[in-house]
Amino acid sequence: MHGLMMDMPLLVSGLIRHADRNHGDTEIVSKTVEGDVHRYTYREAHARARRLAKALAALGVRPGERVGTLAWNGYRHYELYYAISGLGAVINTVNPRLFPDQIVYISNHAENVALFFDATFIPLVEKLAPQLKSIKHYVLMSDRAHMPKAGIPNLLCYETLLEQETDAYEWPSFDERTAAALCYTSGTTGNPKGTLYSHRSTIIHAYGAALPDALNLSARDSVLPVVPMFHANAWSLPYTCTMVGAKMVFPGPHLDGKSVYELIEQESVTLSAGVPTVWLMLLQHLGANKLKFSTLDRTVIGGSACPPAMIRAFQDDYGVKVFHAWGMTEMSPLGTVGTLKARQEKLDKQARLAVQAKQGRGIFGVEMKIVDEESRELPWDGKRFGNLMVRGPWIAKGYFKGEGGDPLKDGWFPTGDVATIDPDGYMQITDRSKDVIKSGGEWISSIDLENIAIAHPAIAEAAVVGVKHPKWDERPVVVAVKKPGQEVSRDELLKFYEGKIAKWWMPDDVLFVPELPHTATGKLSKLTLRESLKAYRLPNT
Ligand code: ADP
Repeated sequence: MHGLMMDMPLLVSGLIRHADRNHGDTEIVSKTVEGDVHRYTYREAHARARRLAKALAALGVRPGERVGTLAWNGYRHYELYYAISGLGAVINTVNPRLFPDQIVYISNHAENVALFFDATFIPLVEKLAPQLKSIKHYVLMSDRAHMPKAGIPNLLCYETLLEQETDAYEWPSFDERTAAALCYTSGTTGNPKGTLYSHRSTIIHAYGAALPDALNLSARDSVLPVVPMFHANAWSLPYTCTMVGAKMVFPGPHLDGKSVYELIEQESVTLSAGVPTVWLMLLQHLGANKLKFSTLDRTVIGGSACPPAMIRAFQDDYGVKVFHAWGMTEMSPLGTVGTLKARQEKLDKQARLAVQAKQGRGIFGVEMKIVDEESRELPWDGKRFGNLMVRGPWIAKGYFKGEGGDPLKDGWFPTGDVATIDPDGYMQITDRSKDVIKSGGEWISSIDLENIAIAHPAIAEAAVVGVKHPKWDERPVVVAVKKPGQEVSRDELLKFYEGKIAKWWMPDDVLFVPELPHTATGKLSKLTLRESLKAYRLPNT
């Protein structure tokens, strides 16, 4: 027997309609590409999103078609999120930091019919346009005064498109399983693959992300997503904030420590979210200028492992709670968040920090298990580590156009991460499976070794990679960047490891470099690093 409840489809357009009705005067503030600050409300955003939906339809964009964006976090990008998905088409947020040939690949693979882009990317689009086969319309996300004279043929102006329409528009209703957004993974190996979110998965994920033990978002928050809207939908914040009616603050391209700090202070930001590399810049700026936060209450750090030293700095030096989060593009992206249970709140500081250094507990909607090489499930004892598998209503079951075949194993999605899970359900990533260091038949966690290096007061950033060894197969080598004006020698850093790890985990060498390579999503690029070490030989081999 079925229940007797309404079958209202869960649609993305419902979010912005709700925010308009219930939080109509709550602000959305954007630092623009030009550097000035734009502010308006959810009500105005909703009106403009409706105009934009009509403008898209007038351009001939049909339900199911894909529309690309190359844009920073800002109000026009936000409007595109709602207008494109709201009319039943699919927004494909392309990461402009990818290599140009990857951008071309993604746009052609997605068969985007239109491309909306910020002024920053005019030279890029000019260069790539001849190769972007499916694009019929190029739209500059700006006003008439900022339109360039030449360059891209038939270039349209965003504000002119909006001026031509009225906001008299009703969002259409359709099946909630309809595709809403398409995000490609960076494709560190092979071609990028597209994760195709549905309206249903997006809404359920937004509910999950808003929970108190997830991002704990409410109408009392002012939220600054530093994580880009082209990186896994800014971890869903444009949806989740709209759902709860939080004020949103978009930083545009201004992601340096000074700009982020000033925006946090000016807009009374209570929550911010981003990858560790961005927070590194912010902490350095705070330290160098002896600044404090007046409103920032918590920060979500994920995308790669957050070093305990960073958690400690935020919490002890600046009074900001850290939510360590783990997820993937294929998971919409939230999987776990490292919030404490009542019992752990009572632990001493050091023990609490050890819990927070883990990637956290699964949110309802994400089931996890760890398995060995033969797919046998491993116990949740916090010690045994295995391949992390997940399943749930906001996790991908395949890639766009069937790329890469069926990724699932018995209905579970293999994350490619190696992890432990403790009896309280806290998951800890030891490594990406391709980064784990195999020594003498055992595994060494590169993340653990990196976290120790970063805890040294003279080290700003560190990566640990496995280097071929004639006897042990691989041995760990630390590649580190020193903090400006700080000194530490190879032997001093190695000594710093003593007593903190098993003897056989001791790195064989330390190399100091001026900077480390990063991927388009701000993670350490171990692939590039390993390649640059090809000619390197371990000491005594
Ligand atoms: P991309 O490769 O495009 O950056 P994702 O952002 O989807 O793709 O990357 C997901 C991966 O990032 C995860 O599988 C995991 O390896 C890593 N990751 C994300 N969050 C964390 C975290 N808190 N700690 C360690 N690794 C993380």
